[in-house]
Amino acid sequence: MVGGECMAVAGDRAVSRQWEHAALAALAGEGARSADTHLLKLDFPGFDGIGFYFKDEAAHPTGSLKHRLARSLYLYALCNGRLHAGQTVVDASSGSTAISEAWFARLLGLPFVAVMPSCTAPRKIREVQALGASCDLVDDVGEVRARALAHAARGACFLDQFGLAERATDWRGNNNIAESVVAQLAQEAAPEPAWIVCGAGTGGTSATIGRYLRYRRLNTRLCVADPVGSGFVLGWRTRDQDARAHTPTVIEGIGRPGVEPGFVFDVVDAVIEVPDAASVAAAWLLEDLFGRRYGGSSGTNLVACLQLAATMRARGQRGSIVSLLCDRGERYDETLFDRRWLSAHAIDLQPWRAILDECIKSGSPPFTGDGAV
Ligand SMILES: *Cc1c(COP(=O)(O)O)cnc(C)c1O
Repeated sequence: MVGGECMAVAGDRAVSRQWEHAALAALAGEGARSADTHLLKLDFPGFDGIGFYFKDEAAHPTGSLKHRLARSLYLYALCNGRLHAGQTVVDASSGSTAISEAWFARLLGLPFVAVMPSCTAPRKIREVQALGASCDLVDDVGEVRARALAHAARGACFLDQFGLAERATDWRGNNNIAESVVAQLAQEAAPEPAWIVCGAGTGGTSATIGRYLRYRRLNTRLCVADPVGSGFVLGWRTRDQDARAHTPTVIEGIGRPGVEPGFVFDVVDAVIEVPDAASVAAAWLLEDLFGRRYGGSSGTNLVACLQLAATMRARGQRGSIVSLLCDRGERYDETLFDRRWLSAHAIDLQPWRAILDECIKSGSPPFTGDGAV
């Protein structure tokens, strides 16, 4: 009888391993069908000899850089033996991750619950629902993680983007974002960029890029561009893991209220704080430059790129600066790209637009008196 029980257990294991193999094969197939994202180049009249490159992460099938993270988080859960056939999957998200995770849940035939702040852009909520997932909206942003943990306590697999982003991504390569950028620059005039600029949401992207730059022995420096007074900004300065943001932000995906477990401070060489109005004005400028919309955090990146470029220009340096277009701007049609919404939130784009236009034209810095870079 005892032997029979052992056989039964082994039989169950074989069935679940079979499902794991099928799920991993489905992820591998998705990877094989996907193309890399474009590295788009811009030249500005004010910055002779400085090339600007933007990695178009909005081009992923789920519209943001979170496509990479979602794939990695599912792989990580599967390879750790914590994701099983029929199991509900849950995560806490400001939206972009939820869309990508819901898409992969559908690919794997799993139910998905997205726990999101109720202030999330309505379009993102609809996108998650359109993928067959359900949204659990929480009024208090600080309660989102606790709600996700409550779902996990009832048996759901918690993908935990904020807890696991930094370790789920293979930082040495495997076509991570840093390896892709470095390869795509190979034929350029300045193939080793002076700076790579990204925001910090989970911190996964900055951790992966910072580690990879060292691993490849490049002299490129990493700058995090984040909303003024974010948890990352305040924590980075003093290496304080308990830092709390002193101002909320309307820029989704970055500007976290606290220091997330995935923030690796020591790989970041500089931090530039960008006011929300400047980020949004820059997102509108990106639409004019590229002929399509990108989200607010892409604008944050552009402002920081211009600041770094102005410093390089003032020092007579030439070279390249690389940054990311993080997500599709259509997601913010009813918020950042709606004039009524902006005035209701007391965001005036005009002064910043004038500054950014002048900057592009003449190479002047968006901010004055910046000693950080
Ligand atoms: C998540 C996110 C970021 C930041 O990337 P992390 O790797 O999580 O730090 C930036 N912009 C958008 C739109 C995002 O969704």
